[in-house]
Amino acid sequence: MKTKSKTKPLGPIPACYQAIDGELAIGGHKASDLVEAAGQTPLFVYSKDRLDARVADLRAALPDRIGINYAVKANPHPEVITHMSGLVDGFDIASSGELAMIERAGIDAALVSFAGPGKRDDELEAAIAAGVTLNCESEGEAERSLAIGQRIGKCPRIAIRVNPDFELKGSGMKMGGGAKPFGVDAERVPALAKKVIAEGAQWRGLHIFTGSQTLSADAIIEAQGNVLNLAQSLADEIGEALPKLNMGGGFGIPYFPGDEPLDLAAVGEALHGLLEHYAGLGDTDLCIELGRYLVGESGVYLCRVIDRKVSHGQTYLVTDGGLHHQLAASGNFGTVVRRNYPVAIASRFGATPAEPVNVVGCLCTPLDRLADMAELPHAEVGDLVAVFCAGAYGATASPINFLGHGPAAEVVV
Ligand SMILES: *Cc1c(COP(=O)(O)O)cnc(C)c1O
Repeated sequence: MKTKSKTKPLGPIPACYQAIDGELAIGGHKASDLVEAAGQTPLFVYSKDRLDARVADLRAALPDRIGINYAVKANPHPEVITHMSGLVDGFDIASSGELAMIERAGIDAALVSFAGPGKRDDELEAAIAAGVTLNCESEGEAERSLAIGQRIGKCPRIAIRVNPDFELKGSGMKMGGGAKPFGVDAERVPALAKKVIAEGAQWRGLHIFTGSQTLSADAIIEAQGNVLNLAQSLADEIGEALPKLNMGGGFGIPYFPGDEPLDLAAVGEALHGLLEHYAGLGDTDLCIELGRYLVGESGVYLCRVIDRKVSHGQTYLVTDGGLHHQLAASGNFGTVVRRNYPVAIASRFGATPAEPVNVVGCLCTPLDRLADMAELPHAEVGDLVAVFCAGAYGATASPINFLGHGPAAEVVV
């Protein structure tokens, strides 16, 4: 029986990638050379040029006043952290494990803030001892922080994470609005801030994060306006200017067919205008915090075709990669309908698409798909497959122990 095959589009390959000698090049190196140097596939390659370019674009578009923080959880590779330390103004961490990574990179704790629900006492103690700012997620956490500070004789640096009454529209992951495990409901923030200040903590202001992965400039502009408005009114109620305001982020990157890049110029222009309206925040240190927007497009996941087979008229390229390294590309990380990521045959980059194929991983589960019915150049056993947008939430946000194939190699070029 032959199943009628209908092709499905692929997500857009980031514009920066080109071919050298008919092969995908990353940071000026051919994919096959990178794999040879690493000694294995699967391999994540992260390009410093792309990180530099991304931050430069942000600096050019955003007001000078706006600091850029890197949310380490997007990609905590040590060389990525070190490289980012020369580019960004601060770091956001979400565990004591990430704190240890930041410390190993020699990053000044004064530039680091720690958000995340469920911080344990030992994590709070490590962060307070190091001088990291705690973005407190609840009254209870603030109380534990104050008590730990007293016990170890170190004044904690405390900001309050606000659970706002609005959300980032069109966001892939909504992190504000309504009942949430994140932050303190906005109406209870002034009382808690007054208490934190009265008890002698070093007051570090507010953190308002409204969501993630938005491609709509309008939605980001609206959220930023709401954040500034809320911050100003909370500062008025607290009765003290905010030393610092972390405005959140949410800037998205295109992953799927039809996705258009975020209009960064529009976001920057609107923010210039918005800031003029909030004179009360004139002395407040402002920052945004970004993960995937900074690192996502800098990364490519390379895996090798191990088998080429046909089933019911459909061709399968079976690779040595899969969802154990690339859960999001497989469609099993926060998406409802599976759509194709940008995928290419790296060893025949730019060649004319010749046939519809299913690119799958090596795991024994039908969930392990990297591209469904994608029009790709003819590929054989031994060819390299590239999955783009692999720089964020890849290696460390995938179930690496599932089926025991082991981790992918990672290299920064
Ligand atoms: C995850 C997270 C981020 C980073 O989100 P991206 O979508 O990668 O930009 C920033 N801030 C907080 C509080 C987060 O939890």
